[in-house]
Amino acid sequence: MNAEASSIPKEPGEKDILSDLQRTVSASRLGLFLQCRLKFYFRYVLRLTKPKTPSLHLGSSVHAVLKSWNKARWLQKPLTLKQAHDAYTTAWADTSEGSVTWEPGEEDDEKTTGWRLVDTYLRESHVPAELKPDAVEVSVQADLRMHGLPKLIGILDLVQRGEIIDYKTASTTPNSDKVIHTTEIQTSAYAILYRHNTGQQENGMQLHHLVKLKNPKVVITTMPPMSQQQESRLYRQMESYLNGLQHGQFVPSPGMHCASCEFFNECRKWH
Ligand code: SF4
Repeated sequence: MNAEASSIPKEPGEKDILSDLQRTVSASRLGLFLQCRLKFYFRYVLRLTKPKTPSLHLGSSVHAVLKSWNKARWLQKPLTLKQAHDAYTTAWADTSEGSVTWEPGEEDDEKTTGWRLVDTYLRESHVPAELKPDAVEVSVQADLRMHGLPKLIGILDLVQRGEIIDYKTASTTPNSDKVIHTTEIQTSAYAILYRHNTGQQENGMQLHHLVKLKNPKVVITTMPPMSQQQESRLYRQMESYLNGLQHGQFVPSPGMHCASCEFFNECRKWH
């Protein structure tokens, strides 16, 4: 082998990828595994990529401007509405995570919808400009080896007065009881990450849903600190994840969620 060929990094094989996935896990990875193991396999083991959807692009642009807004609050130099709009325009133009194939006229409509969500959120002062957050977009991890589990990793959008706040965009108004249940993997994971990294219990959690209606609205769901039962449920779910990966159990789980699955065609060919 010549020197040039030996310097080309080797693509990791499936075995290496599976070992890595058993070492660390995030809430979204765990949630996807428990929703459909075959979809997890397509996304994280085969690493199949698909074009970004308009709704994902809108969500990540909104998320980026809220991150800039909160970082500026943390620096105690709050953004004006004009600066926030500029940050939104920059985020919208960013295609580093993949570009979207737009229908004629669709992009302008979606861009306006996204900004109206941000504008509504900021004008309604759900996060007062003068209040300094405890943390913004912080990458954290928790070593759970003592429980025989992978390392938990994640990024906390915002921590304020000891409360963990997570942003979501939605097209329908969320029902608070259902959303507390459907986001439980994520909220429990964040609580564990918070506790491991601060040595304290969180004061509670909030989901801030920015809802894409004709008249945009913000729905805030508040939750108490994670209970012991929720912590235990998350550990059992992580055990199931580990077990599933060790045994290569990547079977399809057809259901309502298939409507938005980007691997539908690949799934139909699976046997
Ligand atoms: S179409 Fe449904 S069952 Fe198939 S991979 Fe996607 S989520 Fe899973």
